[in-house]
Amino acid sequence: MLRMKQIAALLLLFFSLPLLAQPVTINNLRIWSAPDHIRLVLDTSAPAEHSLFSLTDPPRLVLDVEQAVLREELPDLKGKNPIVQGLRSAKRKDGTLRIVLDLNRRVKPKSFVLKPNSQYGHRLVVDLDSAVNAATAAPKTVKSVASSGQREIVVAIDAGHGGEDPGAKGRGGTFEKDVVLAIAKELARRIDREKGMKAVLIRDGDYYIGLRTRMKLAREHRADLFVSLHADAFRDARVSGASVYTLSQRGASSEAARWLAERENSADLVGGVSLEDKDELLASVLLDLSQTGTQEASDQVAGHLLNRLEKIGRTHKGRVQQAGFMVLKSPDIPSVLVELAYISNPEEERKLRNRRHQQKMAEALMSGIQGFFSQNPPPGTLLAKLQPRDHVITRGETLGLIAEQYQVSLNSLREVNKLSSDLIRVGQVLQIPET
Ligand SMILES: [Zn+2]
Repeated sequence: MLRMKQIAALLLLFFSLPLLAQPVTINNLRIWSAPDHIRLVLDTSAPAEHSLFSLTDPPRLVLDVEQAVLREELPDLKGKNPIVQGLRSAKRKDGTLRIVLDLNRRVKPKSFVLKPNSQYGHRLVVDLDSAVNAATAAPKTVKSVASSGQREIVVAIDAGHGGEDPGAKGRGGTFEKDVVLAIAKELARRIDREKGMKAVLIRDGDYYIGLRTRMKLAREHRADLFVSLHADAFRDARVSGASVYTLSQRGASSEAARWLAERENSADLVGGVSLEDKDELLASVLLDLSQTGTQEASDQVAGHLLNRLEKIGRTHKGRVQQAGFMVLKSPDIPSVLVELAYISNPEEERKLRNRRHQQKMAEALMSGIQGFFSQNPPPGTLLAKLQPRDHVITRGETLGLIAEQYQVSLNSLREVNKLSSDLIRVGQVLQIPET
């Protein structure tokens, strides 16, 4: 009787167990290498239950995936990856698949699963942060100074997407992430050739960087301008042309609120004025002022860029557009996003892949950037010094009026021109000091 009861209980238990007999299949493994981290992505047939731990001497990382099987052998990494020296796998008795990563240094690991999207199915992601003990990965906050003693103009070029995020895809198989990186590199070469200018590539390989990190990198390099490069896609293949975007008012104000909330980080956002000790209202006014100036500059750059892109092809709307793109939300760095063309248009896809056309696009962008900076040279840069700032005095002018017109102090105007009195004459040439 007792035995019958036990069997019944066992049966009940058996049927009430969740159906976990189906193993998870690992279909593919990809590795993306960024300068400071490595990302491993495993395509899985279902969400993968897993655990991750590190071992030392030699450094290894162990990934246990419950009830899993590998569809293919793990790729041979010999000498191909700067950190991961090899991959091994073993099946354990309980059905767990163990993947061991042999490393050449200690890393800070992190893992998470991703739900299917339009490009991929279920994924298990392992990030290895290698910056933990690499002194070279410290942010570069040093202002770059050219031999002339003048600061260089820094242009941050952000090639959109990368790594696991391919961006838009053309019908011919072109990935947005690849063509925008090629054009970003062309543009960087042109900027670096220019005296007094320096390019910073936010991403210089096939890996992904978070949107806020992109902005952070630009700030760490003290960028005077942030240009994000993309290539749009639309379901209608006939749609074509370049577009240039700046941040919409709404996007700006919601971000301002966020920056204010993190006031301790926002000290240098308003030209070195710390917001920490300011009351709420004053802080918001200061940030607003900084942001308004930044947005005006962004609109100007965008206008210059659109104008030059119009000369090498058609533009989508013929005017600068506004949107709430995350990467444009730096309150202190003029930022624009350029959709160079529609990758979904076969003709434009072909052009985006063409080396000669990539150079043409980079040249158009370069000339737009130069156009903007020659009209708005950042103070302290070589360009600011080279700008003709001589003023020929006409009838009715006073020293005070001239100082006001150029927004310089009366004193600096006297000093630069070695004036002993405020008496000036028509036709006299005054040098206007830098602001
Ligand atoms: Zn894009």
